[in-house]
Amino acid sequence: MTENVAVVGGGPAGLTAAIYTARAGLDTTVYDAGEPILARNAHLENVPGFPAGVNARTFLDATRQQAEEAGVEFVEANVERVEEADDEFRVETDAAGAATADFVVAASWPDITYLDGFELSRIDRGSKTMLDVDEFGRTDVDGVYAAGRVARQYHQTVVAAGHGATVGLTVVEDSDVAFYHDWVAPEGYFTGRDRDVPPGCEEIDEDERRERERESLEALAALSPAEPPTMHPSVADDD
Ligand SMILES: Cc1cc2nc3c(=O)[nH]c(=O)nc-3n(C[C@H](O)[C@H](O)[C@H](O)COP(=O)(O)OP(=O)(O)OC[C@H]3O[C@@H](n4cnc5c(N)ncnc54)[C@H](O)[C@@H]3O)c2cc1C
Repeated sequence: MTENVAVVGGGPAGLTAAIYTARAGLDTTVYDAGEPILARNAHLENVPGFPAGVNARTFLDATRQQAEEAGVEFVEANVERVEEADDEFRVETDAAGAATADFVVAASWPDITYLDGFELSRIDRGSKTMLDVDEFGRTDVDGVYAAGRVARQYHQTVVAAGHGATVGLTVVEDSDVAFYHDWVAPEGYFTGRDRDVPPGCEEIDEDERRERERESLEALAALSPAEPPTMHPSVADDD
């Protein structure tokens, strides 16, 4: 049976971790009923690939769309508790019942209370608590990982997303999936050297490359202006 991954939190870290685990063939579910803190940004100007910046909510929508394309399932619920059950984890939510998972990725800045049942090294930073992880995102508990700001990464979108990628790849490495790299290469790149296409990699011919390029440009052109930023909850509403 395919191993499955529960990603708690659908911000840049969780979405990116989920894209990697789903593309590697793991059944991946992202739980989130709230809003990434990035939705408070007014204009995102330091993410590579956007010369004039990008609306942060557009960026989040596009990343979520990319995760859906990769096969990620989304559950609109907050995770209230994770506990060990036999060889897997039981993930309890407030609005969608419970499910089991082989791997849990905490990408849920700023909440980690649902992990209170585990002996995990934590770092207190003022009113916030973060999880102590190794360089690959593993916590003290086998099968539980943390990504992004909740894992004490710099408070920046690309750092959170990049850390999500690292953690996603660590989960893949710890799973039964055979994996080399998540690469798309031109036809013949491996096979032209009498090598098999390594697991996780793909070779595509020129027609397929043109088709994917056309689809990618269409998807970019379809991006439209998004909602204005969400204000910090402590700022008074004038209405
Ligand atoms: C005003 C403002 C402006 C910013 N501007 C920039 C900028 O210009 N450039 C830049 O690089 N960065 C900027 N940032 C920082 C950036 O937004 C964060 O560093 C980044 O979003 C962190 O990503 P993350 O995935 O770790 O956390 P988040 O984006 O906060 O995502 C965490 C997700 O977890 C969910 N969650 C929490 N608890 C649970 C639970 N129990 N169950 C399920 N889901 C849960 C939340 O709903 C949330 O969606 C800004 C931040 C703010 C506040």
